[in-house]
Amino acid sequence: MSILTNLFGSKTMDGLSLDITKYDVNDMKDSDQFHQVKVDSDLKKAPEVVDRRVLMMYEKKFIEKFKKIGNLHQKCPYCAKAYKSLNVGDKKCTACEKTFYVQKRVQDMGTVAFTAEKKSQFEFQWKASSKIKKFKFYLQHEYDYIQQQLQKKGKKHLQISDVMHSVINAYAKNSLNSGHYALYTSLMFHKAELMRSEQRFAEALEYYFYVHFLHTNGVDNQANFKQNTVINPELRERIADLLALGNIQVKKAKDIFDYSIMHLSVFNESSLSVGTHKSYSLLMKEFKLEDALKEEVKPMRSFVLYTNKTSQAS
Ligand SMILES: [Zn+2]
Repeated sequence: MSILTNLFGSKTMDGLSLDITKYDVNDMKDSDQFHQVKVDSDLKKAPEVVDRRVLMMYEKKFIEKFKKIGNLHQKCPYCAKAYKSLNVGDKKCTACEKTFYVQKRVQDMGTVAFTAEKKSQFEFQWKASSKIKKFKFYLQHEYDYIQQQLQKKGKKHLQISDVMHSVINAYAKNSLNSGHYALYTSLMFHKAELMRSEQRFAEALEYYFYVHFLHTNGVDNQANFKQNTVINPELRERIADLLALGNIQVKKAKDIFDYSIMHLSVFNESSLSVGTHKSYSLLMKEFKLEDALKEEVKPMRSFVLYTNKTSQAS
């Protein structure tokens, strides 16, 4: 079991073939039922109905922040003067003398010119959509089986990601029902990665928050919970990248955090060691610095407006 225990966060595991016959999706029942009584009491009997509007609000925000940046026409983004060199990197315009950037953008791999003011957002877009960890721990016949099932259900134009969502769901269900909560958590991380690969950033964030929630509950593979206050560095990086892309502060994201747990958590609150509120507080503490850097600084402008007003009045 140790090989599965380490599935999450262990980069060296990528590409290793695992003996996962007991997770055969053709047979959802699991022979390993040691923790059955505990599992039965831990799991919610019925899923909660949740209002999706919070998620839609974040989706809108991410679409706005992920809009394509730059022009494809080899023109200075400040004064529209044409440039010849196809090299990527920073350039100085021969007409207006401003420095601008030429890079490939992540949405369409087009080589574009963009202003210095857009540089950080351009980089956030790249970071939020790269280094995606693929789920490779399935067997080909499982993949084929699920693909066939989806086709039988009338789903047309199947993408790899459609099948992969179902593969991961099947694994998640199995790991959950056998009390392998840590393994289940790593599968939820893979769900987030899959969402990110489809540029569904709001849903990816929702899943990362859920993984954080499970981590703070110290899940293990024997159906146990134990409080844990140390965040996984890989998870931290993923959350940070999405928050940067959306210019989102954790302290103002309680709505989507709460939504995430309400929507995704399969566990009874009474079984857990850390509740939603406590888990959110831990995350807020962890991202205090990033939150502070995102504060809008506008005191000077209001000062100017104020002094102008008084000078006019006198
Ligand atoms: Zn110019």
